[in-house]
Amino acid sequence: MKKRKIAILGSTGSIGRQALEVVAEHPDLFQVELLTANTSAALLAEQALRFDVNQVVLHDERAYRQAKDLLADSMVKVYAGTTAVEGLMETMDVDVVLSAQVGFSGLEPTLAALRHGKAVALSNKESLVAAGSLVMRTAREHQAPVLPVDSEHSAIFQCLQGQRGSLEKLLLTASGGPFLHHTAEQMKQISKAEALRHPRWNMGEKITIDCATLMNKGLEMIEAHWLFDMAPEAIQIVVHPQSIIHSMVQFTDGTVLAQMSNPDMRIPIQYALAYPERPSLSIPRLDFAAMKEFTFLEPDLERFPCIRLAYDTLALGGNLPCAMNAANEEAVWAFLREELPFSRIPAVIEQVLSESVRIAEPVLEDIIQTDHLARIKAQEWIYKWKTN
Ligand code: MG
Repeated sequence: MKKRKIAILGSTGSIGRQALEVVAEHPDLFQVELLTANTSAALLAEQALRFDVNQVVLHDERAYRQAKDLLADSMVKVYAGTTAVEGLMETMDVDVVLSAQVGFSGLEPTLAALRHGKAVALSNKESLVAAGSLVMRTAREHQAPVLPVDSEHSAIFQCLQGQRGSLEKLLLTASGGPFLHHTAEQMKQISKAEALRHPRWNMGEKITIDCATLMNKGLEMIEAHWLFDMAPEAIQIVVHPQSIIHSMVQFTDGTVLAQMSNPDMRIPIQYALAYPERPSLSIPRLDFAAMKEFTFLEPDLERFPCIRLAYDTLALGGNLPCAMNAANEEAVWAFLREELPFSRIPAVIEQVLSESVRIAEPVLEDIIQTDHLARIKAQEWIYKWKTN
């Protein structure tokens, strides 16, 4: 494989740091050209020096000045603000852009990369949830590949390699999160610390809460709809608590293919960065003889209404998934600030959706406006239901 030049948008987050671990394992295969972060100037500067990066962007003005000082004696060019990413996408020579920011803020940098024809390794699922039609159209128009990094979508993508059969169904697996066996009564008393204790994966805070409400699976169902052009009825969520199967595809001859490994995000990250090559990785191997159980069950939509909300919202379509995503982000951050009870997260989303005006074919301005209005409405409900 020829050495690939990569850009990592959101390099100080969980996915960004694991992507750099992949690079550290294969310095002969990857050269990091650009790193970006919001506010973590010290870590970004350290990463830039360690990986001999040419350019970094900080979205926050204060963090920019801090990074500029830290990198004053180096050759690293330091830029500020979100618009800098757009400019760099135009001028930089990179093979793959890893989009690993958290939340809706990942949308515009992702679109910028696609508009300039870069292959995007997409970890930022919120951009597809909020603007799936726009993102996929931009990718097609500029012949820019979208390579999934989310473990489920990477699993599906891997299962589809070299297949010529017709797809019948996607089976999206879910660990079930920390509250899989909680009763409806127990669901009312969930603390922040409990919700942050995910049984299988070690991830950022926002996605960990999404896993606890199972909204993460709802967002991933929408993501799968856009990435693989499958109707929502043909995407089934299957709870698989061991998290060994990362998702499956079913063909029209009845065959099901699954991708398995120990849960480790470096596999899907590396697969997207090196695609279609599959370099080695030093992670623990599966030991089937030691596996005690391998189980599957249906998600409980009563206790986890976010899944139903996601299916209903995708069926309505237009800008409504964008409103749903914005309301969810606000509700999750409020829960993490301990200002909203866990059980109210779906209630905030439901209220915001009922107050949102549907736009059938939203352009970027509509999406930005929808996101903005949904956040204001969500904050009103969060204020009403404030825990104190
Ligand atoms: Mg996932």
